[in-house]
Amino acid sequence: MARYIDSRCRLCRRENLKLFLKGDRCYSDKCAFDRRGYPPGQHGQRRGRKISGYGIQLREKQKVKRMYGLSEKQFHLFFEKADRKKGITGTNLLVFLERRLDNVVYRLGFVNSRAQGRQLVRHQHFFVNGKKVNIPSYLIKIGDVVEIREKSRKVKTIEDSLDAVVRRGVPQWLELEKKDLKGIVKGFPIREDLTMPIQEQLIVELYSK
Ligand code: SF4
Repeated sequence: MARYIDSRCRLCRRENLKLFLKGDRCYSDKCAFDRRGYPPGQHGQRRGRKISGYGIQLREKQKVKRMYGLSEKQFHLFFEKADRKKGITGTNLLVFLERRLDNVVYRLGFVNSRAQGRQLVRHQHFFVNGKKVNIPSYLIKIGDVVEIREKSRKVKTIEDSLDAVVRRGVPQWLELEKKDLKGIVKGFPIREDLTMPIQEQLIVELYSK
């Protein structure tokens, strides 16, 4: 699978939004978006650029895709899944994305970015309901218990992330038992829980063309 290897900060600047892709750095004064909050590239600082309706929809899709660190194919598969499910397609899509295991370990504060979550899930640092799961796209269910493997509890990145989770906070649909290094899925998120500025209907319109 193709992997994005260029600067992740460029993506925030392109989408004109902090996507929080680099953990602690995103909260520091080293954040590239805070320093240079204009699009990357030679013409990034040019003013008054017109953007078409299609362009707006495309940017919205790219923004969410990059936020969760997915390829076009992976993202589109989630869209199809959301479209097949009853309810509002846009909301279904966001809920599916939030239910990914790499996102859940990030939300619980076990890692400080989704990219790091993906890597540590692949390296089998987490258990779900007592079983090793090494699939970042694994979709958690209500009542699932996600915990850090006994042997991994002293991994420096996990320890540091847990210290930093206070700043981000844990969403109300998850419960973190910090002492036991485990999290419980109390329910699925509802739209109001997702506070990032996303207009998911634009993504639905884009894919419905
Ligand atoms: Fe984005 Fe800033 Fe984090 Fe870089 S440091 S990924 S620009 S939020």
